[in-house]
Amino acid sequence: MRRQPIERVTVRAPAKVNLHLSVGRLRPDGFHELTTVFQAIGLYDEVDAVQADALSVTVTGEGADLVPLDNTNLAARAVDLLAAETGRKSGVALTIRKGIPVAGGCAGGSADAAAALVACDALWRTDMSRDHLAVLGARLGSDVPFALHGGTALGTGRGERLTPVLGHGSYSWVLALAEGGLSTPDVYAELDRQRDSGPVGVVSDASAVLTALRGGDPVALGRALANDLQPPAVALCPPLQQVLRTGTDLGALGAMVSGSGPTVAFLARNDDHAAALAAGLAGQGVCRSVRRADGPVAGARVVEFA
Ligand code: ATP
Repeated sequence: MRRQPIERVTVRAPAKVNLHLSVGRLRPDGFHELTTVFQAIGLYDEVDAVQADALSVTVTGEGADLVPLDNTNLAARAVDLLAAETGRKSGVALTIRKGIPVAGGCAGGSADAAAALVACDALWRTDMSRDHLAVLGARLGSDVPFALHGGTALGTGRGERLTPVLGHGSYSWVLALAEGGLSTPDVYAELDRQRDSGPVGVVSDASAVLTALRGGDPVALGRALANDLQPPAVALCPPLQQVLRTGTDLGALGAMVSGSGPTVAFLARNDDHAAALAAGLAGQGVCRSVRRADGPVAGARVVEFA
């Protein structure tokens, strides 16, 4: 049976938070060795891919003006990479609807790259396995394989080598979005500077987070949250200290800067508590806006064909 041509594919890809992020040595290739536990949360970017004569990018939504429209956009790079790998022309019009804060430490650019890979794989019927897409994705950015994978996973290497994490239940997150963003390379450079200039605390291994997830225990998970990038992110953006304190005073089970920040993630006891925490944070005026999201959720998935 002849298959109908597909004109348009829409893919939804999630943001992530790092429940644990320990940063090891700087490798000769310029990346740091990481151990991290990712969780995909229900805050999404959507990417439409439409057959076209040439590659183009349109971005809408919050922070859209901060996202490049040329071939440095991670989603455009993903299209070029898949086209080169499969011998296609990268004639695709991409529309990215941002729901993930830009430069917020929630891997929005990586989500868009993952979404573009899944969308073009469907549009061109290249039928690649998720593993093959993840290998391509790792060439675009360390967080892209996880945006494809979703759920909860342990990441090693530079974060691109994933092992699924067994866990129970769903967790209610409240995110405090900051005015402006932080550059990930600047945050790593500040961490290196802090470590060079004296002893700094290093987070322990990921076992407390993994045990809490296995037991489906939000109280233990809240206590175990840890991120080596938090001190440098706070040093570069001191108001984050106040945001962290406010959420903790409002009864969050745990509080941490998400990845390289400046988004701050708070773990709530349940849905009702998340609603109260979100309202409390918004009322204190310590951040630009507040979002709620549950995790874990699935990785990049097609939501519509046309
Ligand atoms: P990460 O935590 O993965 O390091 P982040 O979540 O802090 O990143 P992103 O939103 O992924 O930040 O964007 C980082 C930078 O990447 C932006 O400032 C922007 O210039 C660039 N960028 C390239 N493509 C995209 C995209 N599709 N969406 C967002 N930013 C993009």
